[in-house]
Amino acid sequence: MGSGKVTSSSELFDFQGKRVTVAGLGVSGVPAAKVLHARGAIVTVVNDGDDARAREQAAELEALGITVRLGDGAALPEGTELIVTAPGWKPDKPLFLAAEKAGVPVWGDVELAWRLRGPEAAPWLAVTGTNGKTTTVQMLASILKAAGLRTAAVGNIGVSLLDAVLGEEHYDVLAVELSSYQLHWAPSLRAHSAAVLNLAPDHLDWHGSMEAYARDKGRIYGGNRVACVYNVEDKATEDLVREADVEEGCRAIGFTLGTPAPSQLGVVDGILVDRAFVGNRQKNAQELAEVSDVNPPAPHNIANALAAAALARAFGVPAQAVRDGLRSFRPDAHRIAHVADIDSVAYVDDSKATNTHAAEASLASYESIVWIAGGLAKGASFDELVAKSAKRLRGAVLLGADRALIRDALARHAPEVPVVDLDRTDTEAMLQAVREAKRLAQPGDTVLLAPACASMDMFTNYNQRGDAFAAAVRELEA
Ligand code: ADP
Repeated sequence: MGSGKVTSSSELFDFQGKRVTVAGLGVSGVPAAKVLHARGAIVTVVNDGDDARAREQAAELEALGITVRLGDGAALPEGTELIVTAPGWKPDKPLFLAAEKAGVPVWGDVELAWRLRGPEAAPWLAVTGTNGKTTTVQMLASILKAAGLRTAAVGNIGVSLLDAVLGEEHYDVLAVELSSYQLHWAPSLRAHSAAVLNLAPDHLDWHGSMEAYARDKGRIYGGNRVACVYNVEDKATEDLVREADVEEGCRAIGFTLGTPAPSQLGVVDGILVDRAFVGNRQKNAQELAEVSDVNPPAPHNIANALAAAALARAFGVPAQAVRDGLRSFRPDAHRIAHVADIDSVAYVDDSKATNTHAAEASLASYESIVWIAGGLAKGASFDELVAKSAKRLRGAVLLGADRALIRDALARHAPEVPVVDLDRTDTEAMLQAVREAKRLAQPGDTVLLAPACASMDMFTNYNQRGDAFAAAVRELEA
């Protein structure tokens, strides 16, 4: 038996001889099982599925001496002292209920990485929120790099935290994107500083309620040392800061699109300014960058830039690096990506707007819009989104499985807006949608793909949906 205590959050954990159950093969499970085994744990992997891929992965692990139970993810293996789960596994699974009854702790991939990091490990600047996480973390990494720091954007963003923590590369600081699922399973994480960008209903089927979702997001502030960054325009994020249990001296730092109060970052006359990390903040402010340095300078993206700047400044980054980092930042594809201008109409791909909160930000970025929307609604209601955006809509083109929900909301809140309802799901549907949008658009308008829905009814993912849009626009051009 090893000497490490499973429940302690402060000491580095000793896995030697511990019976650890890894829940779920796959992207995080396989590397987790390997590293636990290498640290001397007695590892059993349980997995619901039993397909060809799972068997292949199981064979690889079994060759190392790891036990794998395929098609059996429900039962708690005898003697389990710790469960390490894939972040997506729902908390109400029988395995976790059994674990709770037996007093067995459950960690996710983030908690595991946190516990495995070495004594000299880089501090974490962490970001969560319903929307804008990836963009903000990438902006933050860009700013940190501009300051000459060795860093990477990691977490729920493609590069696993386990790789970042255990790899050869030495980092000064990590820019960490965390999903609500990951936070749920990360009880002892303590970031240097963290930001919650915004909070709107999402993934409620997983968390069980809005309160539980907010509580999990709020975990990101727990134990922060320097700054808890919140959105002044989204009170729920400030409430989470108030409830957080932080280190002595940690500050609450707000970001706002308006004029900043002391201890806030905000915007004055087209300039991003810092009234938080300056001497005499009652009187002084530090200019960081111009709004036009933010790419693209849409309101929600300026908010993302301010949040990234706040975290970077909390880490001691100079103002000039904020400007340089924002200038060199390039957004990922399908996030308000300008595709083309045709006959004085702009065509913009925001296929990543997969929920109503994101689509609302997207629609608020343009004055007169032909809106292409629809897909899988995931239980969302569209009334608020349509009511808030109605005055900007020149027209709407709807496609996908749940388009009737949007059509009904338009009929209720924007009855004068012309709507084209496309009853087809074949590969040519997007081409027709773009043609219909072109017909509705007038010079100066923006044709905006901001579906407010997931894509999987018609496409493999949001990337493919955005690509189909861009291809259709190019066909118009030809
Ligand atoms: P996430 O990683 O949280 O999904 P992304 O940075 O990938 O966030 O952005 C996803 C989409 O959310 C964007 O395409 C845009 O429509 C919207 N979005 C981005 N930032 C914000 C924000 N701060 N508030 C609201 N919506 C946003």
